[in-house]
Amino acid sequence: CGIIAYTGANQAVAHLLDGLQALEYRGYDSAGVAVLSDSGNIHVVKCKGRVATLRERCQAANLVGTCGIGHTRWATHGAPSDRNSHPHTDCSGRIAIVHNGIIENFEELRQTLRLSGHEFRSDTDSEVIAHLFEEAWRGPAHGSLVDALRNTAARLEGSWSIAVECADAPGQVVVTRHGSPLVVASTAEGAFAASDVMPLAAVTSHVTQLDDGDVALLSRDGSVEVFDAAGEPVRQPKTLDVDWD
Ligand code: GLU
Repeated sequence: CGIIAYTGANQAVAHLLDGLQALEYRGYDSAGVAVLSDSGNIHVVKCKGRVATLRERCQAANLVGTCGIGHTRWATHGAPSDRNSHPHTDCSGRIAIVHNGIIENFEELRQTLRLSGHEFRSDTDSEVIAHLFEEAWRGPAHGSLVDALRNTAARLEGSWSIAVECADAPGQVVVTRHGSPLVVASTAEGAFAASDVMPLAAVTSHVTQLDDGDVALLSRDGSVEVFDAAGEPVRQPKTLDVDWD
């Protein structure tokens, strides 16, 4: 299973699909992408099966946009199916998330969210993240993707690496991790996040490893800002020089 995110000057879909292909070795049963267009619409394409199948569906869908997130799923909650594949969206379809790991308290969260009007469209533990993010985004954290994701993560128990894009914030992706791996990179092609360094082989040898609780904001100009669990900027994130030979 794996996560990839990209924002920059290029079309996102090619980077996402190549990234997912590079993560294939980790094992998966489904794959999907959500591309955020420059005009602020999210388009999700996802399916049970191989990245090659996803690639065909993406070609047919003609996804245009320079910002996106992608996922390969190893199902833990909810059978492998198109519907249970990631990305998942909130009720408005204006927030899309991908998640690797397990949300242990998803049943309580789902119950609470249902009582406040959220409708669920999958059997996964992960979908609660999209709805929690929606609440955080519309609540006091409004305007800050980083705070919205910090507030979302504060309600989760279990393990996760998460990437989120939001139609109200074109060109940006926010990511975090707790007990699941995640790296980020600022490159000449744009900003990336990924479960491991493999998808970055073609674009960079300088990679930043996130600590548990860190939140990173990826922007269209290729920059990556890292914040710690308290929301303070991390001045010297852990960097890794990868020797690709
Ligand atoms: N627990 C989530 C699911 O079953 C994510 C699985 C994964 O890490 O791919 O959908």
